[in-house]
Amino acid sequence: MPSLLSPTSLDLIGNTRLVRLAGPSARTGCEIYGKCEYENPGGSVKDRAALFMIETAEREGRLKPGGTVVEGTAGNTGIGIATVANAKGYKTIIVMPNNQSPEKMATLRALGAELVLVPPTKFADPEHFVHRSRRIAEETPNAVWTDQFDNIANRAAHIEGTAAEIWHALRNRIDGFTCAAGTGGTIAGVGMGLKARSRDVTIALTDPHGAALYSYFTAGELTSEGSSVAEGIGQGRITGNLEDAPIDCAFRVSDKDALTVIRQLNAEEGLCLGLSSGINVAGAEQLARKLGPGSTVVTILCDSGFRYLSTVWNPAWLREKGLMS
Ligand code: PMP
Repeated sequence: MPSLLSPTSLDLIGNTRLVRLAGPSARTGCEIYGKCEYENPGGSVKDRAALFMIETAEREGRLKPGGTVVEGTAGNTGIGIATVANAKGYKTIIVMPNNQSPEKMATLRALGAELVLVPPTKFADPEHFVHRSRRIAEETPNAVWTDQFDNIANRAAHIEGTAAEIWHALRNRIDGFTCAAGTGGTIAGVGMGLKARSRDVTIALTDPHGAALYSYFTAGELTSEGSSVAEGIGQGRITGNLEDAPIDCAFRVSDKDALTVIRQLNAEEGLCLGLSSGINVAGAEQLARKLGPGSTVVTILCDSGFRYLSTVWNPAWLREKGLMS
């Protein structure tokens, strides 16, 4: 049995379990596993990137005792940064679009982060959360901007952590990996880490509607159609983390299909997850079908559904969004 003693709270980040998803496996005739990233102390896959980006800034001498960490985020990276920053004695300023889940905002406030809410705008707008967070870091004494979209310490967390853990658990049994991209750190890092061990592992990008990566990886151009209510994913550009990502193929999943998947996972296996996990598992089912019966596919269970009780797990909210059938 692995040690159940953790020397510090930061050692709780990573080494998450892989769970065999019975329903998706049965429906495809394959072995589909989800990596339980909601087990991280901040409750999402983004704790890993937060730890790596903060420790890289420390090593480079940019982050000093008593300093402040500033980031623009859909929420989970901010929660990861506040978690790590609290454990290390730094302050946190988080810039977040005001249409993200109230649960994530409340969690950030509970962690003591200073929260700056901005309207959801396009990346080209100077008021976009990414640009606003960079300016706040520039104007705040002794502050660093972790720059999760273009800082490749983000994907390094997944090369050194997530991919190594998946390989350690399954070794040559793994045939494919897929997940959606926000910054792209997870898909690029896991893809690079797995390909370094076996060229035969297929790496697939699964996009929500409204994102431009599906068209990029299938037709070579960044175009998008439709929209999605999934938080934390849906990218319109090739971020620094996505550069040179070893993507073999791509799928696109609608919110309606992702909602069906998270309801099945909840009813059939008692897993209550956020919508990006539904996009990922739906993508894993598509990849499993493409690779054929008996193949083994891994995806990411990014965060818990408890983070979205007032949104995707709230029938009234779904009805308002036209997503209740
Ligand atoms: N799912 C959720 C819920 C997230 O918050 C994020 C991070 N933005 C992702 C998926 C995507 O992760 P990444 O930034 O590594 O692409």
